[in-house]
Amino acid sequence: MGESGELEKIAADIRSCTLCRLHEARKQAVPGEGPPGARILLLGEAPGEQEDRAGRPFVGRAGKLLDRALRDAGLRRWELFITNVVKCRPPGNRDPRPDEMEACRPYLLRQIEFVDPRVIVTLGAFGLRSLLGIRGGLEEHRGRLLEFDGRPVVATYHPAAVRFGKARRRALVEDLRRAAEIAWRD
Ligand code: SF4
Repeated sequence: MGESGELEKIAADIRSCTLCRLHEARKQAVPGEGPPGARILLLGEAPGEQEDRAGRPFVGRAGKLLDRALRDAGLRRWELFITNVVKCRPPGNRDPRPDEMEACRPYLLRQIEFVDPRVIVTLGAFGLRSLLGIRGGLEEHRGRLLEFDGRPVVATYHPAAVRFGKARRRALVEDLRRAAEIAWRD
C-alpha cells in the first residue's frame, strides 16, 4: 500500500473509532487532509461545529483566518497536511481532555509517519501538549527550537486566537514563514 493508501486507511480507522467519549456526540470525525509527502504538517486542536458537520479541518471561522495567514506567508493550503490533536469535536467546543488526547495520539503518530513532513507547526497549546508533553502557555515556547522525533516543531498561535490582536496575527504569519523556510531549505 502506498502512502496515500495508508493515509486513507488511517482516515477510515478514525471515522469508525470509538476509543474515547468524543465519538458519542460527533456528526462525523475529522481525520485531516493533505497529500502524503507534504513538507509541512499543521496541527490544530480539535474540530469545531462546522468541521464536525463537513468532516474537514479548518473550514469554519478559524479556517478563514488560517487561509489568510497561509496566503500572507506565501503558502498554499493544498500543499500542506492539516489535522488536529483530537479528530472528533468536543461537545460545546470545550478543551480536549488528557485521556482523549492520549486515546487519539496513535492516529496522529501514524499520520506523521506516512506524511513524513519536514516540519510540524502546532497551532495552539494542545498540539505541544499532545506531541511533546509540554504544558503551560504557548507564549513561553513560541520561538524556541523544538523537535519531535528528529523533526523541527514550530509552535504558534491557533488561528482563532489571532482575532485578539494584530500582533498575534503578525506572529502567526511570521511563524508560518519560518516553517516554510525550514520546509523548503536545500
Ligand atoms: Fe477516536 Fe480520536 Fe475520535 Fe476519540 S477523538 S473517538 S480517539 S478518533
